[in-house]
Amino acid sequence: MRKKIVAGNWKMNTTIQEGIALVNELQKLIHDGNIGSANVIIAPPFTHLSEIINVTKNSVIKVSAQNCANELKGAFTGEVSVAMLQSIGVSHCLIGHSERRSYYHEDNAMLNKKVKLALQAGITPIFCCGEVLKEREEGKLFEVIKSQISEALFDLSADDYSKIIIAYEPVWAIGTGVTASPAQAQEMHAFIRNLITEKYGKQIADETSLLYGGSCNAANANELFAQADIDGGLIGGASLKAADFYTIITSF
Ligand code: PEP
Repeated sequence: MRKKIVAGNWKMNTTIQEGIALVNELQKLIHDGNIGSANVIIAPPFTHLSEIINVTKNSVIKVSAQNCANELKGAFTGEVSVAMLQSIGVSHCLIGHSERRSYYHEDNAMLNKKVKLALQAGITPIFCCGEVLKEREEGKLFEVIKSQISEALFDLSADDYSKIIIAYEPVWAIGTGVTASPAQAQEMHAFIRNLITEKYGKQIADETSLLYGGSCNAANANELFAQADIDGGLIGGASLKAADFYTIITSF
């Protein structure tokens, strides 16, 4: 059965002190068994990862990076490699977030390299895809998502592919307070699951966790997570408030 997952993307927010306070507050809310079958992942900034892995070592919370380099090692000033992430115990990595795609010009070919490097290092990619508003309005949303997913993921072996988590994040919904309706989100999730079925077969498609992201919050998570093909969320703003994030985690 596929995993239910709630992942928090802190983006470039919190100092290390604020980050530790946030994670401690979250850990006080999460007790044994009170989050049902939800898997919890947080993605703090690079500078916080080591300390937050240490602070969460006895908890169910897994720690993700927000990005990784598209090269193994060497003269790439300012970059952080998958080996570095692996060496401190990072379990997951966001790859292809729309802010990386738009501000840092990351394209599908580059994301394909990052996904493969992460997998080689034993790090689970949380691969993000999503259309911008214009693409939706022009009716191109399905072809955009198809090319993002097929170009970045579909040359993986079935074994490698089966380790991937996908987050559908319509760009027009990220950080805007505008959420995709449950029906809009479900429609795209069903489309993505169908793409995976065509490429890797029904069993792998059924086991792929598909997360929704884009202004998902404590008030709307329940309705979104109730959709047949939505297996959880990638949460930005609302993951910075422990109580809200906890409510989302318990929204299945
Ligand atoms: C995100 O950045 O992945 C995200 C979903 O942000 P927000 O929840 O703030 O829209």
